[in-house]
Amino acid sequence: QIGITAAKPETFTVNSPNVVYNDEHVLSKYTYRTTQVHTTGDGKIVATPAEVAYEFKTQRNVGKVGMMLVGWGGNNGTTVTAGILANRYNLTWETREGVRAANYYGSVVMASTVKLGTDVNTGREVNVPLHSLLPMAHPNDLVIGGWDISGLDLAAATERAKVLEPSLKSKLRKEMSTMKPLPSIYYPDFIAANQEDRADNILPGSKACMEHVEKIRQDIRDFKAQHGLDKVICQWTANTERYADIIPGVNDTVANLLASIGAGHPEVSPSTVFAVACVLENTPFINGSPQNTFVPGCIELARQHSAFLGGDDFKSGQTKMKSALVDFLINAGIKLTSIASYNHLGNNDGKNLSSHKQFRSKEISKSNVVDDMVAANGILYDHGKNEKPDHTVVIKYLPAVGDHKRALDEYHAEIFMGGHQTISMYNVCEDSLLASPLIIDLVVIAELVTRIQWRKVGEDDGKWKGFHSVLSILSYMLKAPLTPPGTPVVNALAKQRSAMVNILRACVGLEPESDMTLEHKLF
Ligand code: NAD
Repeated sequence: QIGITAAKPETFTVNSPNVVYNDEHVLSKYTYRTTQVHTTGDGKIVATPAEVAYEFKTQRNVGKVGMMLVGWGGNNGTTVTAGILANRYNLTWETREGVRAANYYGSVVMASTVKLGTDVNTGREVNVPLHSLLPMAHPNDLVIGGWDISGLDLAAATERAKVLEPSLKSKLRKEMSTMKPLPSIYYPDFIAANQEDRADNILPGSKACMEHVEKIRQDIRDFKAQHGLDKVICQWTANTERYADIIPGVNDTVANLLASIGAGHPEVSPSTVFAVACVLENTPFINGSPQNTFVPGCIELARQHSAFLGGDDFKSGQTKMKSALVDFLINAGIKLTSIASYNHLGNNDGKNLSSHKQFRSKEISKSNVVDDMVAANGILYDHGKNEKPDHTVVIKYLPAVGDHKRALDEYHAEIFMGGHQTISMYNVCEDSLLASPLIIDLVVIAELVTRIQWRKVGEDDGKWKGFHSVLSILSYMLKAPLTPPGTPVVNALAKQRSAMVNILRACVGLEPESDMTLEHKLF
């Protein structure tokens, strides 16, 4: 069905005694340099440089990769599918503004570059595609499938989504009409009642059960077998669910969660059932919506199986701006005192979010996104008094604007000597066109992580290990990044990107790009 291109050879190689390329792997020795800080009894702060020597081993053969989406027939699911097909076939289409061609704009993996280093002859920066840092899956090669509670084929679902140009849709209609979502699990209590009329493709049973877990696992195995896949990455891009209550004895441990699924406990959500099924199949599972899919028992299960989880909630429009702008303001020493964020949108996501419990999931996910930046600046904010900017988030459903979500934000700040700076922003976010490239990035980076192993030099038993089950390396793409229990959350956009890029650089034995450019300053 799908033309598979062989994994591309690396566009550059690293010339270092610490880096070895063999047929199977890229091996690197990398010294991680950090600063350890101690506060003494009399309150003095002491900083000590520290280093840890690691080895990384990245498998070069990407293999054949599948992407299974929960909510495949939704706006994001249909848009990312059409976008990948359009790129695969190198399509162009007429619009009233002229001919447009397929691209991967908005994908940090496919459309952004990183500075590799400085050209020895010209002294200029040499930038390479982020995608070329290590062998990565190409989105054109992803085999796509998934589930939806709505049985519309992908061509009809693309019409329903009202996102893409008619001229493009007509070029893809034949192929997309053969794509049919698998029946899914539907527990009406978790999504808005207004979604009921599209739920015509559902498995029997309206509460969690082991049969559902087993059916999802079987679907993944069948998909792999049908397409001869080496691995599958699953992603939740279905409706936002309400939060599940975290109840001791119900979802707090592996044993309790599995028992609750078996007993049909009403606090086990469909997304948690998918996550559990994926963990048991050792299939990475990423949650693109805000709800608390990853209850403690689920995270513990992933740890036990060394399976990967990533989440939560795609960071596409308003929050992406927020995590860049607030980073800038606070790092500039400007005291942000309030953020008012209003959204209105008219797609099915907006319709679902017009229900209070589902809105509440989104409100929580959108609210904590400046906490780390505020916590980093004890000059502007009195941490003793837990001082923070006021922050409110409003979302309204307005059918007429469709997928063209409006985000209106006001940032109010205190500047020098009692003055004020107020920034008012009007951001038209073509929602699914912003989210689709993130779906691709999440799949590509999560897949890459499954091929990277590490060990500490001269320590332990010399065994190679994988990343922690909770993939905080995906934070750049996510609004409420999930991090390993007990580790800090980083929301600042620039930090998130440099964490991701610098980890990839370490795997090819390159130092983090520091932007010091001493070669241009000290001569
Ligand atoms: P959508 O409503 O168009 O699509 C969701 C799809 O999920 C629908 O087709 C629905 O039938 C299906 N669905 C619902 N419950 C299901 C279940 N249990 N199993 C299988 N399918 C199920 O929404 P969308 O615009 O594609 O957004 C998807 C999700 O991504 C939403 O939760 C949204 O909040 C989140 N999100 C979107 C963006 C963005 O689009 N920019 C950003 C952040 C988060």
